[in-house]
Order: sequence, then C-alpha cells, then structure tokens
Amino acid sequence: MYTVDLTGKIALIFGVANHRSIAWAIAQALYSAGAKVALTYQTDRLKESVEGLAKEIGDAPLFQCDVSNDGEVEALYKKVGETMGTLSTVVHSIAFAQRDDLGGDFSKTEREGFRVALDVSAFSLLPIVRYAAPLMTDGGTVIAMTFLAGEKVFPGYNVMGVAKAALENSVKQLAAEFGPSNIRVNAISAGPLDTLSSRVITGYRDMKRIHQERAPMARNITHEDVGGTALYLASELSSGVTGAIIPVDVGYSIMGI
Ligand code: NAD
Repeated sequence: MYTVDLTGKIALIFGVANHRSIAWAIAQALYSAGAKVALTYQTDRLKESVEGLAKEIGDAPLFQCDVSNDGEVEALYKKVGETMGTLSTVVHSIAFAQRDDLGGDFSKTEREGFRVALDVSAFSLLPIVRYAAPLMTDGGTVIAMTFLAGEKVFPGYNVMGVAKAALENSVKQLAAEFGPSNIRVNAISAGPLDTLSSRVITGYRDMKRIHQERAPMARNITHEDVGGTALYLASELSSGVTGAIIPVDVGYSIMGI
C-alpha cells in the first residue's frame, strides 16, 4: 500500500537552469519513481543546457516560458495540454531579484526591484496553479520552493524574504481554493544549497557555514534531501497534506541559538 510509484503520473517542472538547480534534483527524483516529466526553461539562452539534462530523464518534453509574461504562462499550458494531455504534479522552483537588491540596506530597495522580485518569485505561482488546475483532472499536487527568510531576517536576502513570505501565504490561499478539487499545494523550505541563484546572495557563504554549525544534524542539506521530500509531496504518501511549508533544513529552524 505504501509504495512510491509514480507510474502514469505526469509532472511539469518550472525552474531548471542547470544541473545544480533544485528543480533538476526534483525532476530526477520524480522520474526515478516512474513519473513522466516535462521541463520548462526561462529563455532560449538556457535551452541548450536544459536539453542536455532532458535527455537524462527519458527525453523530457521541453517548453519555454518566462513567467513574468502572463501570455507565456497561458500559451505554455495550452501546449502542455496538447502534448501531455493531463497533469498530476507541478513544481514551481523559480525566483529572481535584481542583484543590487540582494545585499546592502533593505530600506534602499527601489519600487521596481521590489515589484520584479515579488512578481517573478511569488505572483507567478498564481497563474501557474490556475492554468494547471483544469489539466489536473484526477486531482494533483503543486510544490513550491521557499526559504526560512520568509519568516526570519537573513541579512542580504532582503527583498527575497518579502517574496518568500508572499509565496508562502499564496501557497496556503491556493491550497484552500483548490482543496475541493483534490489539488494539494505545499512548499518545501530548503536550507542553503549551491545553485546559480544562491551564489549571488550577499552573505550566502556565511549562511551556509552557520547552518552547518547550528543545525541539529550538523551538516548542510543536499539536493537529494529536497528531491526525497518532493517525491513524498508528489505521491499519495502525502495524500492528507496541503497548505504546508515543510522544512528540509536538517533541523536548523528549530534552534533558538
Ligand atoms: P536556480 O537559479 O537553479 O533556479 C532558479 C530558476 O528560476 C532558474 O531556472 C531560472 O531560469 C528561473 N527563473 C527566474 N526568473 C524566471 C522567469 N521570469 N521565468 C521563468 N523562470 C525564471 O536556483 P535554485 O536555488 O535552484 O532556485 C530554485 C528555487 O529554490 C527558488 O525559488 C529559490 O528561492 C528556492 N530556494 C533555494 C535555496 C538555495 O539555497 N539554493 C534555498 C531555499 C529555496
């Protein structure tokens, strides 16, 4: 009864940029359990690298989609519907802030930087779920990626902390809205991992070192730690779980000092 077998399930994964992307770890985990996986990539600049990865997971279908453009999200789902038919899982592993806004004084964040960070990193979850829902004819699961900076202050993370707070609240509101359709919406709150995005955050190295020093498990998390939890959230093992923000942080967030 309690096996993780995603045979027959179809997953659409947003946010693979390269082999270090958290989205790639999740794609591999879902594929290893038998799911058919499709990937989206943001721009043509990333196409070649994502094409190489797609080959490793059964020639995953690829779709281009920049989520800052509503038209592209809607058009993407039209193509996904035509190509894949239905969907079981959608993974939102997307974030962006202007480099200048990931360091220095938070109060100096400009209106445009604030807008862009919230638009790409939080608002995008809404159309991604709204257009996915009609394709989730047999229920479905949505997984978003967040960080503890949505709750606590991490100097350097700045406006992205606001974006994560907005994303986490959006996860809960979407879980409430789509629960009656048997669509579950959850987020994984991951500890620091070396990726294209994390490296530009001022103080990221310190964040990672301190995490390892203070976390009960005395190590940093791995991409596989996140992949495993995503597998749980994509499967029937988590059939009663929605609106949850699940820490995959080797316990860091429970510590007071
Ligand atoms: P990454 O750079 O590999 O992934 C970020 C992805 O966002 C990229 O694929 C990029 O193309 C995509 N993206 C940015 N703007 C976009 C747009 N306008 N349209 C479509 N896609 C766009 O980095 P990552 O660390 O794997 O980040 C994935 C998610 O995990 C993010 O939400 C991030 O905040 C979250 N997260 C990361 C860490 C970490 O330490 N790396 C920790 C917790 C949460």
